[in-house]
Amino acid sequence: MRIDLHAHSNASDGTDTPAELVAAAVGAGLDVVALTDHDTVAGHTEAADAVHALPAGSRLTLVPGAELSCVAGDISMHLLAYLFDPAEPAFAAERELVRTDRFRRGRAIVERCRELGADISWDQVRRIAGEGSVGRPHIASALVEAGVVASVSDAFTADWLANGGRADVRKHETDPVTAVRLVREAGGVPVFAHPGAVKRGRTVSDQVIADLAAAGLAALEVDHIDHDEPTRAHLRGLAAELGLLTTGSSDYHGSRKTVRLGEHTTDPQVYEALVEQATGAKPIGG
Ligand code: AMP
Ligand code: ZN
Ligand code: FE
Ligand code: FE
Repeated sequence: MRIDLHAHSNASDGTDTPAELVAAAVGAGLDVVALTDHDTVAGHTEAADAVHALPAGSRLTLVPGAELSCVAGDISMHLLAYLFDPAEPAFAAERELVRTDRFRRGRAIVERCRELGADISWDQVRRIAGEGSVGRPHIASALVEAGVVASVSDAFTADWLANGGRADVRKHETDPVTAVRLVREAGGVPVFAHPGAVKRGRTVSDQVIADLAAAGLAALEVDHIDHDEPTRAHLRGLAAELGLLTTGSSDYHGSRKTVRLGEHTTDPQVYEALVEQATGAKPIGG
């Protein structure tokens, strides 16, 4: 079983459509893929339709999910949520709030980039983002188009879009204890995404992770491209101490990042345990 529990489509800042992501997951030989777009479930229907349209004999299972933008104190962090009821009103309202504020903030970042001499526009960013939940990676692509930087990752520096960078503007983000409760109350399973991704900015303390565990966190995403081996070892120990499961996943973004689907995977027993905790939705297909 090859299980990848973290992938983005163009419903947020990935480059594959949800249907293309499903095809790519089959192509990568995955048995399970989770669709976890930032703060949105807009890709779920298309992805589910694509799974249902797979030829008999394909055994791909789709786990509908999302990746929530959170902030602990002043440290941004991401919470994966799986198999929640997308119609549950409190959680749906919070996702909507974050998505709406992404537009205000996207305009402000574009304005800031222009002040700093980058010839990009909000229309251009909207074209790049399409219908998707708009984020810094779309603005990074605009900076690449304008010849300001050579690649998306080159835009995530202090000069431009990195946390605290010259053109970084904060967006509304949810307190993570609140987010864990919202996910659970919607029948979903919350997992802390890349908790030790230091190259993106400061990361939260072990005490914050303990507080999230007490609030109902299910797992830590340990095997992730942004974690070095000592970080993984530390997170594994912490998870054992706190009674949390550990997952692994690619955080695939299509051509906007270099990671491949299935580059990191989750143990089948852990996957089963996560699915067992969910009451808001069921995996699709398989
Ligand atoms: P946003 O949600 O708009 O704040 O943008 C955050 C997203 O930008 C993350 O989910 C990553 O996909 C991407 N990102 C953050 N830091 C980096 C980085 N150092 N290099 C490349 N992409 C990054
Ligand atoms: Zn992303
Ligand atoms: Fe993330
Ligand atoms: Fe992600």
